[in-house]
Amino acid sequence: MTQFVDVPALGRLVNRIGVGEFIAGMARTVKADFLRWEEFDKCARVASHSDIGVIELMPVSDAERYAFKYVNGHPANTAKGLPTVMAFGALADVETGYPSFVSELTLTTAFRTAAVSAVAAQALARPDSKVLGMIGCGAQSEFQAIAFHTILGIETVQVFDIDGDAVEKLRHNLRDYPRLNVVPAGSSAAAVKGADIVTTCTADKAWATILTPDMVSPGMHINAIGGDCPGKTELHADVLRAARIFVEYEPQTRIEGDIQQLPDNHPVNDLWRVLAKTEAGRESAEQITVFDSVGFAMEDYSALRYVQQMAEEYGEGVKIALVPELPDPKNLFERLMSDSGQAHSRKAA
Ligand code: NAD
Repeated sequence: MTQFVDVPALGRLVNRIGVGEFIAGMARTVKADFLRWEEFDKCARVASHSDIGVIELMPVSDAERYAFKYVNGHPANTAKGLPTVMAFGALADVETGYPSFVSELTLTTAFRTAAVSAVAAQALARPDSKVLGMIGCGAQSEFQAIAFHTILGIETVQVFDIDGDAVEKLRHNLRDYPRLNVVPAGSSAAAVKGADIVTTCTADKAWATILTPDMVSPGMHINAIGGDCPGKTELHADVLRAARIFVEYEPQTRIEGDIQQLPDNHPVNDLWRVLAKTEAGRESAEQITVFDSVGFAMEDYSALRYVQQMAEEYGEGVKIALVPELPDPKNLFERLMSDSGQAHSRKAA
């Protein structure tokens, strides 16, 4: 049988573990998998674009497990009452191909994106960072704020969104974090003023310039998560030119990340090498660092692995008959008859 975790089951699981601890556990799992990067069979995701959005398949495997995620990105969805990003995915055993685990991945993607952002910032931001500037207060924003608060000890988050209701929603949702000071700002520039770390998490299928060079100060770490599709960017190209840039999987980020604005030979650095300590991260306290995040399949593999492990530990989720259990594996047709054969016969009679 296949273990299945739907949205209510994931919600119960997170509430039992605690949001902060759930993100921290996912961050540990993601980091552990980044440290065995070379064991994964990797490829850039397969994207199907329309004028208003994208639908993507993200496969990856190691010697033991195969994983995939289905995910979309439709910035105009919120006006239609749907999230911008929705996802589900599966884990299968490489030895047999048996799908062992199927899960919701909409909430889980927000957790894993925040976990990856925090893992990257831990390696790249100045260790004394206390203030986060955040532009974009949509679905990802609370997860980002809690990850930076819990994992990096961020004390203040200065926030801006063109939608004032989104800012109020964020403040309301973070009311149970009394040691995290949420400060609404009147503009993007005000949100990032004095910030040690900046997260851009806006959604617009456009060549947007959310962050311009005049808004960036020495020593800033920029966690750019919203520029993740061809023709969908957030950073002015000069912000990138002034920074040391880090990526997840270079072949995919060259197509989808903010670096799509730069020539193909512009130097970038692999996050996994920094985590493995084989390559330098930040080289000075004044250096500007950019994590050009687009979201990579291995991170979803980690997220699926973590959710599966936690669901087993806490007894959440259900077993479903996603593939047939057959007394004779060559007799698939008999399985069909045992379920609907009689009904079919009755109809015929
Ligand atoms: P969302 O639609 O829920 O929220 C986006 C917010 O950005 C909205 O509140 C909107 O009003 C605001 N916004 C748009 N343009 C703005 C501007 N110019 N200035 C300030 N605010 C602006 O989307 P979400 O689910 O929170 O996702 C945010 C972005 O992150 C999307 O672009 C999504 O594709 C991307 N994303 C990336 C990853 C990754 O791994 N890198 C993972 C998940 C989502």
